[in-house]
Amino acid sequence: MKILVADDDRLSRRLLEHTLSQWGHEVVACGDGEEAWLTCRQGTARLVISDWQMPGMDGLELTRRLRALGGTYTYVILLTGEEGREEFLTAMEAGIDDYLTKPVDLDELRARLAVGKRVLDLQEELRCALAVSEKLATTDALTGLLNRRTILERGDEAFAQALRQGYPLSVIMADIDYFKQVNDRHGHLVGDRVLAAVAGALHGGLRRYDCLGRYGGEEFLAILPGCAAVEVAAVAERMRAAVAGREVEVDGGSIRVTTSLGAVASGPDDLPHIINLIQLADDALYRAKAAGRNRVECHGAYPPSQTVNVEP
Ligand code: GH3
Ligand code: MG
Ligand code: MG
Repeated sequence: MKILVADDDRLSRRLLEHTLSQWGHEVVACGDGEEAWLTCRQGTARLVISDWQMPGMDGLELTRRLRALGGTYTYVILLTGEEGREEFLTAMEAGIDDYLTKPVDLDELRARLAVGKRVLDLQEELRCALAVSEKLATTDALTGLLNRRTILERGDEAFAQALRQGYPLSVIMADIDYFKQVNDRHGHLVGDRVLAAVAGALHGGLRRYDCLGRYGGEEFLAILPGCAAVEVAAVAERMRAAVAGREVEVDGGSIRVTTSLGAVASGPDDLPHIINLIQLADDALYRAKAAGRNRVECHGAYPPSQTVNVEP
């Protein structure tokens, strides 16, 4: 475990540093509260053993600041001298987790570190479980893309930000062509693999800060913050080409599918609501289907032929 020791008393600091290292911990030693605070802000030590009395920032102020900082929990053990009951209560209120009286009894220190480790491990388990459940709640299991609810939320957020900051906003809707035939000919399991491969190809065609979600069965929705009309057709075309160029291995060979895409961008003086942008992209997608599929149709004055190169 990475432990930060803050103590202005050189001898006591050295003893702690030496002992903790011998017990297999990684130790960072600081001679005053200010230095300890700066080190803590870098956020690598999970547990802090701090002297109460130190010149400049004392152990209580260090603890208060750590608690105000929030984020990943830091377990704090305070080293106390002859402080009485009132002081003890003040220290608990400041946010310490435990305390040890000086001179430190090393057996007691080892026992209290074990308690601290147990608390920190539980917290880490909880954090991981939350991350897993958040991932499950926001992603589509088959494709790994954002699910419908989450991509729509991202659309709302991107719209609010574009409105606030005056950025353009683009939306692309993509749909696999004749996908029913893939299921009919090769079975649903192959269909699922094709869906996942298409999702990967579409994602590869996007820019880093764009989001892609599975909007419906074989329909995908991309939200492109800061992407203007002159760029969106190029991005959509790149997505189309990425899917068309991808082969999916099936028993005894490989298959390719194509997508049709509809794209729309807000104008310089006109930012339609995200719901309207999605509807306009869907209308353009419908036109792409009607015009023969495996193509991009854009809403407004920017056909795919008028595209510019866009960095991925
Ligand atoms: P079009 O070019 O007009 O889009 O034709 P299409 O066949 O792709 O469109 P249609 O809407 O007729 O069929 C969509 C198919 O997508 C039907 C449905 O079974 C399939 N599908 C939807 N979700 C899944 C899925 O999760 N897995 C598989 N394998 N197929 C799916
Ligand atoms: Mg389709
Ligand atoms: Mg469809």
